Formats: sequence, C-alpha cells, structure tokens
Amino acid sequence: MMKTLFLQPPSFDGFDGGAGSRYQAKREIRSFWFPTWLAQPAALIPGSKLIDAPPANLGMADVLPHSNAAELVIIHTSTPSFANDVKVAAAIKASNPRVIIGMIGAKVAVQAKESLEQGAPVDFVARNEFDFTIKEIAEGRAFAEVDGISYRDETGAIVHNKDRTILEDMDSLPFVSDVYKRDLRMEDYFIGYLLHPYVSLYTGRGCKSRCTFCLWPQTVGGHRYRTRSVEHVIAEVRQIKRDFPQMKELFFDDDTFTDNLPRAEAIARELGKLGVTWSCNAKANVPRDTLKVLRENGLRLLLVGYESGNQQILHNIKKGMRIEVARQFTKDCHDLGIKIHGTFILGLPGETQETIRETIQFAKDINPHTIQVSLAAPYPGTFLYDQAVENGWLDIANAELIDDHGIQIAPLHYPNLSHTEIFEGVEVFYRKFYFRAPKIMSILNEMVRSPQMMKRRLREGVEFYQFLRERHAA
Ligand code: SF4
Repeated sequence: MMKTLFLQPPSFDGFDGGAGSRYQAKREIRSFWFPTWLAQPAALIPGSKLIDAPPANLGMADVLPHSNAAELVIIHTSTPSFANDVKVAAAIKASNPRVIIGMIGAKVAVQAKESLEQGAPVDFVARNEFDFTIKEIAEGRAFAEVDGISYRDETGAIVHNKDRTILEDMDSLPFVSDVYKRDLRMEDYFIGYLLHPYVSLYTGRGCKSRCTFCLWPQTVGGHRYRTRSVEHVIAEVRQIKRDFPQMKELFFDDDTFTDNLPRAEAIARELGKLGVTWSCNAKANVPRDTLKVLRENGLRLLLVGYESGNQQILHNIKKGMRIEVARQFTKDCHDLGIKIHGTFILGLPGETQETIRETIQFAKDINPHTIQVSLAAPYPGTFLYDQAVENGWLDIANAELIDDHGIQIAPLHYPNLSHTEIFEGVEVFYRKFYFRAPKIMSILNEMVRSPQMMKRRLREGVEFYQFLRERHAA
C-alpha cells in the first residue's frame, strides 16, 4: 500500500472548504465541518494520514514534511478553492517531484478535463464516488485499470476511464470516526448552532429531491438515498461514545436524513437507548408523528433548507415543497421542542425585491431558532449553472463564487435584480430577523442560563460584525 496523505489544503483564514461543507466559503462565524469525504477513503487505506489544514490553522510549512514523506497525496478541492488548491499541489510537487497527486471533489467530478488542463501538477482526478478508486490507486494499480479516474498518459493526452459502478453496499465502508480519532482534534470543529464539541458523519448518500442549485446529489451522491444498515450506524455511534466521551452532540450530515422515515425512526429508537443527543438535516415535510418519535429519542435540532418564502421560487428550483406544509412542520417542531436552524438562499431564479421581502417576512413568521442566509451559487454540474449560462444570468468571465478573502459573492443577476441588490439583501435579512425584541430576548435568555453559551454567543457576535465589515469592504 502506498504511503498516502489526504489533504484539505491550507486556504483563506476561516475558510470552510472541507469535504462536508455545502457552500465552500468563509462563514459569518468561524465554522468547520468534519472532512468526511476525505476521511472515508482514508479509512480504507491502512497507515494513511489525513490533514485538515484550515481548522487546525496549518500552513504549507506544516504540510510539506508530511507530503514529502508521502508517495500519494489526495487533495479535496472545490470550485471556489480550485485555483488555490492547484498552487498547493504545485508546491507539493516542487518539494517532492516523485509524489503522485490526485484530486477529489464535486468540481473535478464534473469538470475532469478542464481540471487537468488547468492543474498541471495534478496526475489524476477521481470522478463519481471515489472511495474505492483511491484505494485501488494506493494499492499500486496502473491508472489504465482504475475505473472512475481521468489522467494524463505518458504522451500528455488526457484519458477518461469508464465510470465506477455506484456503491450499493454502504456497510462496506469502514467507520470514518476511526480516522477522526487518529488524525483530528474534535475541538477544532465548530458549527454555530450545534453543541460543542460535536461529531458529524454520514449514514447514507444521495437525496431523493432534485433541487436545481444543490451540489452534492447532482455531482457525487446521486438521487437515490443509499443507506447503511441501522446496526452498522449504531455500532459506530457506540464506538464514538467510547472514543469521544467529551462529545455533546452527534450530527447526521446525510443530505436528507428524513428521506427514509421508518429508518430514521429505527435509528432514533436505538439512539434513545444510548442516551445520545443528536441532530440532522431534514426537509420541511416530516410528519408530526415521526417528529415525535425522533424528539422522544434525543433529537435536539433539525437543519432545514427552506430556501425561500415564495412559492413560485420553490417551484422554479424544483424544491418539491409547499409553503403551508413548511409552516405546519415548523409549528410541529416548536410544539415538540425541536430547535431549527433554517437556511435561506437569496438570488434564486424568480427573485425580486418583493420576493426578498416576502422571504424575510416568512422567516420572521415561522421563527427558526437560528438562520443562515446564503447567496445563490451556481456550481458547475448543477441544473442552476446550465440554466444561468443559458439565460445570461451568469457572466462566465466573472463566475467566481467567493472573493479574495473567501467570502461568498453574488454571481447571478437578473433583468430586474442586480448583483448588488442580491448581495445587500443578505445583511438586511440578518438584521430584520435577529434585531427584533423577542429574538434578542430569547438569545439573552439562552446566554444567562449557561456561562458557556454566554462566552460563545459573545465571540460569535464579534465575529459576525467582523464578517459584515469584510462584506462591506468587498
Ligand atoms: S432536499 Fe436538500 S439535499 Fe436534497 S436536493 Fe434539495 S437542497 Fe439538496
């Protein structure tokens, strides 16, 4: 087996480009997801090492000793970070010319040829699901015999091998938490709305929905929810409890953990027996009866993508969601004591100043505990990207998704709505949502009840204002 280094490269200060993040950017408050997509192949390769540079505050000087000792380096990249990641690959190759460098991630999965053309130091990119692809390369198999990669042959020509068969037996994947324990410091991973420290992992891949903007199901995961067995998940949870006794919350990062309701309930019942506090991604259509079972078995919070408060926009993005269903779901969660972190997107097709106002009012009405407001980001490989190019909403020459500091910018514009209006809408949204007397009171109450929360919310408040200042400067 080749000596293999898995790397989330050094990047902008506070850049959450990690393998679990959906929008690779610097956040309003310092946040990092666990690098689950890197940890999964790392778990298949004995003796490998995983370095997640941004949360650990590591620079190239820290990384090079490890890449110099490696025979194979696998870099996770993304559309926003690609140019930076190629520079990292070049520095690694300059220091260790014999090393083989491969890239993984949604960007190279859908733009294999362009990525190799723009990334001279990169020897191959892995498309589709890449776990066993990387394992075969680490075993020393010739590139020509490895399904699912694109590479440069000895003449310099780019070769695309046939696609890898999609993984069906999800229990064949070893536990990512073994790699977390071996290589990461769990206290480095913060998410504003999760208890700290937390651990996150996947219990399945793929999402049944077809939201036009959504990155992972349209690039790597697909639209069938392929799942690990309940027993496999619970065995890993037991192990996590032993290995990370300081864990306060477990997060299931599956695109939509509630896509399979009987399974979600079965996992919840086992978690209830273990006394685990947990949270997950959910669509705003989970029936009350299921919510009740989840809540009675340790569910603390749901991360819910509402996206917009305008029904036509939800139709435009194929969300498959009715506003009144989302309202009832949110009311049920409030009644049952389930907290919600609601996520919204400004600048989706059909957006106007009026729909922005409507979405802000909707958010205030349903009142999730916390919110995140993102800018519509047309990632290559998504339906939204093709649609934006076709309709002239995206200027290809200026299609960057983040600025020089890693902060999200508004790449889309419409005949009646400019980049600037969409960009400025985010700050208006946050101010109108959080600067309300009842919201301020509920945050103060939370802080008064817990000294740890007091410290945390004060730090987050300072970071939030710094973030707004940086946005103004952008
Ligand atoms: S439901 Fe969520 S995860 Fe699934 S496609 Fe839509 S946005 Fe993506």
